[in-house]
Amino acid sequence: MSTTTAISPPEVKLTKNLINGEWCDAAGGGTFETFNPATGEPIARVAEGAKEDVEQAVGAARQALESGPWSKMSARDRGKCLYKLADLVDQNAARLAALEVLNNGKPVMEVQHADVPLVAETFRYFAGWADKITGDTIPVDRTMGNFFCYTRREPVGVCGQIIPWNFPMLMAAWKWGPALACGNTIVLKPAEQTPLTALAMGELAMEAGFPPGVINIVNGFGETAGDALVRHPGVDKIAFTGEYKTAQIINRNAADTLKRTTFELGGKSPSVVFADADLDQAVRGAMTGIFFNQGEVCCAGSRLFVEESIHDEFVDKFKTAAEKRRLGDPFDPKTHQGAQVSQEQFDKVLKYVDIGKNEDGATCVTGGERFGDKGWFVKPTIFTGVRNDMRIAQEEIFGPVVSVLKFSEMGDVIKQANMTMYGLAAAVWTQDITKAFAIADGVRAGTVWVNCYNTFDPAAPFGGYKFSGHGRENGKAALEAYSEIKTVWVNLGKR
Ligand code: ADP
Repeated sequence: MSTTTAISPPEVKLTKNLINGEWCDAAGGGTFETFNPATGEPIARVAEGAKEDVEQAVGAARQALESGPWSKMSARDRGKCLYKLADLVDQNAARLAALEVLNNGKPVMEVQHADVPLVAETFRYFAGWADKITGDTIPVDRTMGNFFCYTRREPVGVCGQIIPWNFPMLMAAWKWGPALACGNTIVLKPAEQTPLTALAMGELAMEAGFPPGVINIVNGFGETAGDALVRHPGVDKIAFTGEYKTAQIINRNAADTLKRTTFELGGKSPSVVFADADLDQAVRGAMTGIFFNQGEVCCAGSRLFVEESIHDEFVDKFKTAAEKRRLGDPFDPKTHQGAQVSQEQFDKVLKYVDIGKNEDGATCVTGGERFGDKGWFVKPTIFTGVRNDMRIAQEEIFGPVVSVLKFSEMGDVIKQANMTMYGLAAAVWTQDITKAFAIADGVRAGTVWVNCYNTFDPAAPFGGYKFSGHGRENGKAALEAYSEIKTVWVNLGKR
C-alpha cells in the first residue's frame, strides 16, 4: 500500500445547487449549516433546496434527456466524458480527499487509499461499458410471418439519486457511473450532513464535458428536497442508499407515480470465525469489518460469531488490536479512526452502548465511551456475552461497536447468521474449504467474503437480500437497473 500524504483542510468554494450547468441559490433563499465532525464546528452554509429547486432540476434533466446535446451524443462519447471525469478525479485527488475528510470526519488514510481511487475506478469501469450496452436479436416464430425481432437498451430517463453521508463521494460515483453510461440524466440529492464533495464532483463533471442538465445537484433535507424528488412525476427512477425505514417511506411515496426503485440499505452482517482460521488474519479482518470508516458502513461486520474453543484467545487478540487503533485528527496521516459524522450519530452510537451494557446485559470489554473532549469520536467498542436476540445484535448501530457471539456447530451458526432482518453481507474465516462453502451457500446475503472483508471493485455487484434492499450497485447488474429493454418487431414482408 502506498503511503498517505499529509493534506490540510481545504477552502470551501462550492455551496450552491447545480441546476442546468449553473450554480444557483435555493429558490426560497434558504441555507443550512454543514459541520466538521472532528471539531463539531460549522464549516459553511449550503443552499437549502426544496420543491421548487427540484422542479427546476427535473425540468433541466428532462430537457437534457430529450433534446439537448446529450440526447444526440454517441454512446462512445458518453464513455469519453466518464473517462475524462475519472482522470479529473485523479488530478484533483488531494482536494477531493481534503473536502471529504473535513465534511465527513473520516481519516485521510482511508480517503486516499479507498474513497478517492474507488471513485475514479468506478467512473472508468462504467466508461468502458458505455458503448457495450447492447440488445439481442431474437429468433421469433416465423410461422406467423417474416419478422426480424431485436431488443435495444434505452435509458430509464430522469433518475433521482438520494445518497447517504458515510461515503459521500463514492455513493455519488456508484450512482452516476451506471446512470451516465446508459444515457440517463440525473438529479442528485446528497445527504444534508455531507454535501461538499458531491458539489466538487459536479464541477469536475462539467469540466469533463457532460452537457448542462445531465447532472443536477439539489442540496437539502430528506423530508423536503428528497421527498419532492421521490414524488415528482417527471422522475422515472429513484436510486436510494440509506436506512430501510427511509426506503419504506420512499417506496410508498414513489408508488403513486410507479417509479422504478433500487434500494441499498442497512445490515447486521455476520462474520463467522472457525477454530481452524488463521487467527491473526481473522482478527485483522474483524477489525476492518467493524472499525473501517468508524463503523459507518452498511455492510459492517457487526455480529462476530466465534467458535467456542478459540473464543477467549480470539477476544484477547481482538481487544489488544482494537486498543491500538489511533483515534484523532482525521487530517493526520497516522490516524486510523476519525469522528462519527454528526452529533445525532454520536448520540445514537452511545445510546446503543448503553443498551448493550444495561438493557441487554452484555459485557463491554473495551471502548464504550467517547474519545477526547471535542468532536464526535467513539472508541472502538467490543461486546462479548452477546446473544443473537439482544438489541445490539439485531439493530443496526452504524458505529464502531461489535457484538461477539459464541457458537459450536455449523448448522446452528448458519441459522443464527440468518436470524436477522438484513442480508447485505457475511464473512467466514477458516482454512477449510468445505466450511467456507457451507457458509457462502447457507447465508442469505448479497456478498460473502471468505478470509477477507470489505473488498470492493466496481466490476463486482453489491447489494442486499431482505431488508438490505433490492437491485445491485456496480458490475453489469447495475446497468440493468438504469436501462429499459425495448423490443422491436420488423415485418420484412413476403419471403
Ligand atoms: P440517516 O438517518 O442515517 O441520515 P437516511 O436514510 O435518513 O439515513 O438518509 C439517507 C438519505 O435519504 C439522505 O440524503 C436523506 O436526506 C434522504 N432522506 C431522508 N428522508 C427522506 C424522505 N422522506 N424522502 C426522500 N429522501 C429522504
